Amino acid sequence: MPATLSNSPAPDDLDDDLNDDLVEAPPFDLLLFPVIGRFLMWRHSRTLLQIPLLLVSLVMILHGLFGPSISPKNLATVLTWVHFRGALVLVILVAGNFFCMACPFMLARNLMRRFLHPRFTWPRRLRNKWMAVVLFAFILFTYELFGLWSSPWLTAWIIAGYFIAVLLIDGFFKHATFCKFVCPLGQFNFLASTVSPLEVEVRDHDVCSDCHTKDCIRGRHTSDSDLVVLQRGCELALFLPSKAGNMDCTFCLDCVHACPHDNIGILSRLPASELMIDPRRSGVGYFSRRKDIAALVLVFCFGALMNAFGMVSPVYAVESCLGRLLHIQSQATELGILFTIFLVVEPAILLGGAAWITRAWGGVKRAWLPLLLRYTYALVPLGFGVWLAHYGFHFFTGLYTIVPVTQNALASLGWPIGDPRWTLLGIPKYIAQPIEFGFLLLGLAGSLLIAWRLAEEDAGERRIRAFSPWAVVCLLLFLAAVWLMTQPMDMRATMMAG
Ligand code: SF4
Ligand code: SF4
Repeated sequence: MPATLSNSPAPDDLDDDLNDDLVEAPPFDLLLFPVIGRFLMWRHSRTLLQIPLLLVSLVMILHGLFGPSISPKNLATVLTWVHFRGALVLVILVAGNFFCMACPFMLARNLMRRFLHPRFTWPRRLRNKWMAVVLFAFILFTYELFGLWSSPWLTAWIIAGYFIAVLLIDGFFKHATFCKFVCPLGQFNFLASTVSPLEVEVRDHDVCSDCHTKDCIRGRHTSDSDLVVLQRGCELALFLPSKAGNMDCTFCLDCVHACPHDNIGILSRLPASELMIDPRRSGVGYFSRRKDIAALVLVFCFGALMNAFGMVSPVYAVESCLGRLLHIQSQATELGILFTIFLVVEPAILLGGAAWITRAWGGVKRAWLPLLLRYTYALVPLGFGVWLAHYGFHFFTGLYTIVPVTQNALASLGWPIGDPRWTLLGIPKYIAQPIEFGFLLLGLAGSLLIAWRLAEEDAGERRIRAFSPWAVVCLLLFLAAVWLMTQPMDMRATMMAG
């Protein structure tokens, strides 16, 4: 037999090798990708991304305060409520948390910290997500109560207020206190990016085992154009070798620049895979023991439905019905009751019931609360699907509205570029709506897959029983979202506003 043939692997071995290759295939690493990778590896890349967003934020504040008071004609409202939100969820879906990377508030903070060094550490009792949970729910509430989408003035003050809050908190407290413990937008991004396909991750764990300096978290001095500069380590307290997933990661790439072994990349992974496992995560701990993060997930998921519900006409009927039944005159009280039902009562009944059935019928041995916390994370993809469908719809159908609004803003400054074309809107609804349902289906599939994996691990043979209650919860939420998306929606902050 010729040597080449005798040395050839048997067909079965070939299959095994192929499978091994598929399993072991090196992940895609964005930092090794031509042009983009080189740009991201440049130490000033983040600043370069932040500068345009800082300028746009300042323009939005000024236009919101001094420009037209009609929301579809104002850059503050159109950019915030139509373009920014839509672009944010789409970028998180296809890549990762690049909006935190380009965050303009952090540029202002870094400029301030050149002159002012914080002296305090954030109180231990506040080192959790509870404050962010309350702020997240509060923003959703005020959005409805004050109709933020329709007020350029209020929108401008929210953006300005954000800058003030960041400068105050990070002016007094060390590290990335605002990002990790306060910022509701950041928490939204952290949770949403658990379903992203990219993650900042160690390339080779063996290199970390031999690494004695651990600069990725400690930081180190590096030289830049003959100047010795301090390169920060991870301000979010994520130690790369034991970091698991995107929770709390702002994609700032400080760790990448600090690692002396060039051992950190932006690697591809199975989206949402971090929700199927429950390791001890650096800087986060076990998901299944974090009541605060689970509460954040509930506001994220049920708040997505509440936010969409606030835009369809049945909400007005429900509000007036509540008012008549309970003899309430105040809209704030009516909304408060609605929010309590949507964000507290409904999740407590649905998830509490599902956890009870999983124990009683599925035979899972875990205690009720840890079990409930564990499966709560399975809802993240569906919740993100609802945000995607909702924000994506406004983004696509209002995509071109930025053109006449910018033309109008420039004309008011004495720099006209043609007559504003107010008829420009966006992609037609008959194209946007199927995309919307596609996002919902994607979210449902992700949530079912995670619940199935958890049930398999917990219940073995009885996995179908353990899985079923969570599948029912997911289906109910999915159907509620489909119903909401088929209702006529307010086209907030666009010229076709209803
Ligand atoms: S990521 Fe880099 S700095 Fe951090 S432990 Fe690994 S090799 Fe060391
Ligand atoms: S330094 Fe921390 S927050 Fe920044 S990219 Fe690295 S792990 Fe993420």
